[in-house]
Amino acid sequence: MGRVMLITGGSRGIGAATAVLAAGRGYDVVVSFVRDADAAAEVVERCAAAGADAEAVRADVGEEADVVALFDETIDRFGRLDAVVNNAGILHTAARLDEIGVERLDEVCRVNIVGAFVTAREAVRRMSTRHGGRGGAIVNVSSAASYLGSPNEFIDYAATKGALDTMTIGLAKEVATEGIRVNAVRPGLIHTDIHASSGIVDRVERLAPNVPMQRGGEADGVAETILWLASDAASYVTGTLVNVSGGR
Ligand code: NAP
Repeated sequence: MGRVMLITGGSRGIGAATAVLAAGRGYDVVVSFVRDADAAAEVVERCAAAGADAEAVRADVGEEADVVALFDETIDRFGRLDAVVNNAGILHTAARLDEIGVERLDEVCRVNIVGAFVTAREAVRRMSTRHGGRGGAIVNVSSAASYLGSPNEFIDYAATKGALDTMTIGLAKEVATEGIRVNAVRPGLIHTDIHASSGIVDRVERLAPNVPMQRGGEADGVAETILWLASDAASYVTGTLVNVSGGR
């Protein structure tokens, strides 16, 4: 049987690019989504065209029951799980901290922190040798925001990515003897739909002059790093945060 990769938020952007690349590298793929069923179906088609068995499951990472059901569906369908990409994430309109309300804080933390933690928990419960699994890899999709802080835009979002970095380091040590490696990628400015949520038109182009390489990156480049971290080529790499940010 081929390897199986589960990607949260795999219908668009970095998650979709990761799914299609994984399919081409021999993985069967499960992607989750919340709203855009058409985009998710298109990713499944592209994975199938690359030779993979693929499935899209509607599952909100902010809902514990959805995440558990997503993992159950993956095991029911494929009988194994080898890699989990903790990718789903959101940001809100650019704002100063003194303008941010509790409702927004609750939502960003629920999706970006609680969702990522519950996803990682379910991954460990399925893949850890301590739980009878055969081991595997977890790749967290953090952000350069975790070390830049995102002033005047979304310190809340940046802080959730800081939490993801800390989880990466702690969990990597916690499960190091259980066959599971845990790493993170920290993308910089990548051309995806997420920037529209900030309300800043052409955000990537506007901020590109701040990037040493003077340009935004592509989702495919982030996907390549995720696939490497998940692969046996990175078998001695754990607890590492890899910046994919053009030097920013
Ligand atoms: P994107 O294009 O907006 O795609 C987001 C994906 O996440 C979509 O598939 C979306 O599904 C899904 N999603 C959103 N909320 C979800 C939820 N509650 N449960 C499950 N899935 C959910 O974003 P992206 O730029 O690819 O971002 C992916 C990850 O990279 C995020 O964690 C983001 O923070 C991180 N990142 C991105 C950049 C960048 O410049 N693009 C930089 C650093 C870090 P629907 O289609 O159903 O909405």
